[in-house]
Amino acid sequence: MPTREEVLAELAKVKGPDLEGDIVSLGLVSDVFLSEGRVIFSITVPAERAQELEPLRQAAEKVVSKLPGVKKVLAALTSERKPGSAPVRPAPAAGDAASVPPPMQGRGGAAAKGKEPAAAKPGVPGVGAIIAVASGKGGVGKSTTTCNLALALQANGLRVGVLDADIYGPSIPRLFRVSGRPEPVSGRILKPLEGYGIKVMSMGFLVEEETPMIWRGPMVISAITQMLREVAWGELDVLVVDMPPGTGDAQLTMAQNVPLAGAVIVSTPQDLALIDARKGLNMFRRVDVPLLGIVENMSYFLCPDCGGRHDIFGHGGAREEAEKLGVPFLGEVPLDMAIRETSDAGTPVTVTDPDGAHAAVYKEIARRVWAEVERNRAEGQRDAPKIVLES
Ligand code: ADP
Repeated sequence: MPTREEVLAELAKVKGPDLEGDIVSLGLVSDVFLSEGRVIFSITVPAERAQELEPLRQAAEKVVSKLPGVKKVLAALTSERKPGSAPVRPAPAAGDAASVPPPMQGRGGAAAKGKEPAAAKPGVPGVGAIIAVASGKGGVGKSTTTCNLALALQANGLRVGVLDADIYGPSIPRLFRVSGRPEPVSGRILKPLEGYGIKVMSMGFLVEEETPMIWRGPMVISAITQMLREVAWGELDVLVVDMPPGTGDAQLTMAQNVPLAGAVIVSTPQDLALIDARKGLNMFRRVDVPLLGIVENMSYFLCPDCGGRHDIFGHGGAREEAEKLGVPFLGEVPLDMAIRETSDAGTPVTVTDPDGAHAAVYKEIARRVWAEVERNRAEGQRDAPKIVLES
């Protein structure tokens, strides 16, 4: 097993984002965690360059994996996807998106006046509640959380659908291991695909993956509106929406136009310090969408060998911030190989190991999310979010 210094010496061979310097001397590498052949660290990159710099992350994993005694390497890249840079292009079905009418109201519409209840926006027939999962920036595990939260809501007895609104880089098809093209059921209405008993709709089903395409804000909204309203969702208790990362105009307009029962903010411990999660919270507050709470993802590292818990990324920030901000704290998801590997393989841990420790974490988060939705329903639209006191 190498030492931390040996790992850093290898990482110093990886050039920085502009091929100048190296990632270690540029100060981009976090604390390195070593345990029984596993090496875990994160690399900080400029917010808008995450996608472009994925090879850098892979290069970092590769150099470290070559060290003797290293069995697994987990390098996390925390950064923002730049809207428009993703490899998507509308296929014929998605081409219709451009002809969908523009959003019902722009900025400064009824919601911006302050007290417009979410229920006043046109709902989706048959869908009981729509929940957004959002993050201030990309790479924090928003899609992984959406997927496992949806499965956990289902495990808790609800009928669940997932709408992948992260159209710059749709990952829901991979997470649910579903592919193919949604068939029309009548006219423009499409039948959603299904993964693990959950109805799923994603731009990933409608676009050619390889071809780049610039999605402009208004088109993003039209595409999402189409996926929301022109899909045969059937009877659902809850539709979970994987929002595009970030808090730009497209997200704001969407938050304003979709009749959301509430929003869940996913954050890593570091992001709170960087106030990205706060931006996410404020965005929903601006349009009076209730905040269901914050999930701290990659919160701590649970050592699979010694069973010990290691707070390598300064875990705990979310709970404190949530309390300060008056938003419920929904739970902590550990940084774990199993979560990453199962997500990336399309076999999410909540469904493949339903009685395991990770599934238990997601089910508890799902329980709290649903309790908040129901409480909001009972109380009507809240003016100010309440703090959930942990026992
Ligand atoms: P986002 O939707 O915020 O861009 P993703 O859900 O795509 O983020 O996650 C980014 C990467 O981090 C993926 O490779 C995913 O498997 C991994 N990941 C997410 N959450 C965890 C976790 N709790 N432990 C380990 N890896 C995780």
